[in-house]
Amino acid sequence: MKNSNNILAEYGTTIFATMSALAQEHNSINLGQGAPDVDGPKEIREVAAKALIGGPNQYPSMIGVPELLKAVARHNKRFYGLDVDPNSEVVITSGATEALCACFMGLLNPGDEVVLIEPLYDSYLPIIRHIGAIPKLVRVEPPHWELPREELEAAFSEKTKMLVLNSPMNPSGKVFNDDELAFLAGLVEKYDAYAVCDEVYEHLVFEGHEHRPLMTYPGMRDRCMKIGSAGKTFSLTGWKIGYITAAPALMKAIMKAHQFLTFTIPPALQLGIAHGLEFGDDYYKTFTQEMQDQRDQLAAGLREVGFKVLDTHGTYFLTCDFSPLGFDGDDAAFCRYITEKAGVTAVPTGAFYQQDGPSHFVRFCFCKQPSLLEEAVRRLKDHFSD
Ligand code: PMP
Ligand code: GLN
Repeated sequence: MKNSNNILAEYGTTIFATMSALAQEHNSINLGQGAPDVDGPKEIREVAAKALIGGPNQYPSMIGVPELLKAVARHNKRFYGLDVDPNSEVVITSGATEALCACFMGLLNPGDEVVLIEPLYDSYLPIIRHIGAIPKLVRVEPPHWELPREELEAAFSEKTKMLVLNSPMNPSGKVFNDDELAFLAGLVEKYDAYAVCDEVYEHLVFEGHEHRPLMTYPGMRDRCMKIGSAGKTFSLTGWKIGYITAAPALMKAIMKAHQFLTFTIPPALQLGIAHGLEFGDDYYKTFTQEMQDQRDQLAAGLREVGFKVLDTHGTYFLTCDFSPLGFDGDDAAFCRYITEKAGVTAVPTGAFYQQDGPSHFVRFCFCKQPSLLEEAVRRLKDHFSD
């Protein structure tokens, strides 16, 4: 048989699916893959259900249903003061995953350089490399996740087409601050580049921190592609509804990819999310507060188990150093071990680096009911106190 695509063949099954399968096999509490254990607002699901029954259920407009396009534009104004034209500057995608792919496919040519900051969400590199673009990796590392400014400056050049920025950042929980964002905006402008801004955790930013889209910085309005995910904002990860906001010229390029990738997105689900985006401030405040309480609960519990728990300012992930527990093995082995022996699953932080990532950190997800988090901590305590 002739071979399949060489680049994709290099990659195994994603760490999220792998760890979830292992968790299931061992009946383990899955704090690996980032997915809430309670479905998002019933009101959103009711609007979608009504539209599913009442129709129409045929192909909607390629950019998205007008209700959702307008809701995304208004959301940008309401939270970030951005003026966005719903007809020429928004497209609805199949999750942030398609949004990322459409931005990469729409903008990149073979040989273009793309600056990325590790740790990386797993879909970025395979797609960028598949296109033939060249990743320039710069890393932030636990425990402080500090931005290495000199290395970043060195990674940019005249060949740089694009920066990929994930803030709040998975899995580090880092929320890029004003100074860091201004620095990155300066580089993007200096090298006449674009920025793909993965902001799926925009509403998961905790006390003392603020999410500021790179798009709001001077010179960035027409260079940024700002990506959101209803899966994260409304705890409906299975729906795979994403949205891109970008200037009309960029949107034209993105649409060339979107039309061939998915073309359109289920209209009933779009209507449900349009309804959700218009929720009052109460929804967003309660959502963030509950997640913050769960973060604090899990962090305190894991500290009692003996982990060194790093601070998380955004996302629904906690990074923990397991070296105080005296385990003899790397992060992947530790995740397998606690799944099999303690009945709790995490994902290895090293998996978010292309190579030679940190080897004694793991990521626990806290978007779970307090009772489940409590049980997970109890299991870990029972195991490690023996
Ligand atoms: N980017 C990051 C950083 C993520 O954590 C996720 C979560 N899966 C995605 C993109 C993809 O989001 P979606 O499920 O909307 O495709
Ligand atoms: N974004 C989620 C995570 O980081 C899950 C993504 C996935 O399963 N593909 O865990």
